Amino acid sequence: MTGMAICVENVCQILRQLAPLLTAESWDNVGLLLGRPERTVSRLMTCLTLTPAVAREAITRNAQMIVTHHPVLFRATKTITSDTIEGRLLLDLIEAGIAVYSPHTAFDNAEGGINQWLAESLGLNSIEPLRQFPQGIYGGSGRMGVFAESHSKHEFLEKLATAVGVEHLEVSWHGAERVSHVGLACGSAAEYLTDAFQAECDTFVTGEVRFHSAVECQSRGLNLVLTGHFSSERPAIVRLAHVLSDRLFGVECFASELDRDPLELFLRRPATVDSTG
Ligand SMILES: [Zn+2]
Repeated sequence: MTGMAICVENVCQILRQLAPLLTAESWDNVGLLLGRPERTVSRLMTCLTLTPAVAREAITRNAQMIVTHHPVLFRATKTITSDTIEGRLLLDLIEAGIAVYSPHTAFDNAEGGINQWLAESLGLNSIEPLRQFPQGIYGGSGRMGVFAESHSKHEFLEKLATAVGVEHLEVSWHGAERVSHVGLACGSAAEYLTDAFQAECDTFVTGEVRFHSAVECQSRGLNLVLTGHFSSERPAIVRLAHVLSDRLFGVECFASELDRDPLELFLRRPATVDSTG
């Protein structure tokens, strides 16, 4: 778009093209969640999760719109007051005139969405959805693909760690020795384990699962790799800021810097050995 000032609704249109809301899960809360569609946008911030720190960052950096992957107002809300954390966050955004849009599961599954990007960044070929959408809707959720040449466990894990930008992965390797057919779904996606197994994937990648899902993979002989929920989705948020920059002429789009993994690793130091004897 060129020439005229961009408004919130123009950004929403682009986001709906990028991730059609029809494809979001039925339990989800997606689209424009806060704000006036006619308000002008010249600065836009993307984030994975809209925490109080991220909201303050948006205000400090003079954004007029936030695109947050994880929705706010997810539960039915009867009051918005400063008595709750979410109430304070929303009031701060309203008072600063900041609009909020969330594409969530629509963006997970979109043709140019998180799972597709993840599959492409691993270098998979013949990428297809793990599960087709119900009849009448094109596309599907999760992704699977094959490597032109199979990878060793080590090669594959290095490649994945690079793709999502982490120093550690959680791994349950009780399936095929070499990786050739990979299923994946970002976030917390144990629900796709059966789809991956039925599609004859040898390895499944997601952000996080419960202990018993890992045990199930072990029993079924499906390799399982966990990147952490944050790491499975955050690279796509940075990429989304670039995509929106390209599509929204005159709007400065940037990813939040305070959008961080709430979890960190505690690495115990080896006990110090007294060398003097
Ligand atoms: Zn998520």
